[in-house]
Amino acid sequence: MDLKQYVTIVEDWPKEGIRFKDITTIMDNGPAYKYAVDEIVKYAKEVGAEVIVGPEARGFIIGCPVAYALEVGFAPVRKPGKLPREVITADYGLEYGKDTLTMHKDAIKPGQKVLIVDDLLATGGTVEATVNLIQQLGGEVVGAAFMIELTYLDGRDKLKGIDIRTLISY
Ligand code: IMP
Repeated sequence: MDLKQYVTIVEDWPKEGIRFKDITTIMDNGPAYKYAVDEIVKYAKEVGAEVIVGPEARGFIIGCPVAYALEVGFAPVRKPGKLPREVITADYGLEYGKDTLTMHKDAIKPGQKVLIVDDLLATGGTVEATVNLIQQLGGEVVGAAFMIELTYLDGRDKLKGIDIRTLISY
């Protein structure tokens, strides 16, 4: 399936100069959404994922159905102040800003094989911080899967040594 045809490009959002890739038009098409999730499920099986980790909020949209299909757990990565119990933190730089990410201290067991799932790889800052969180907890990052990769932002440079799978490239 040519998934790219279901992505909507939104000019100058959230600010001028950004060409936002809107994935809601993949999600609202049942077969396209299923295809995208199924492709990531196949990859997750290849790398032997034992738990899925996804950054809020679009990482949940793709990561949760992958975890459900594999019958493995899903651990959320969230902005500060959102998780109710003790957290660990990592800072990151976004394509448009800076922030901190958090994870519950007991979300990953030491040695667990973790697959990171998000909608889009841009500068790689979000995933770099997510890798940092997983490694702080002793997890093994076995891969990172995205629906979309913005290759011109060189996010892969921040993720050296991590196996990456993407479904659509710009
Ligand atoms: P990075 O940290 O620069 O790789 O940015 C990736 C994060 O920003 C992901 O969690 C995306 O959800 C979000 N993001 C950045 N650009 C876009 C876009 O064009 N469409 C959708 N999400 C985006």
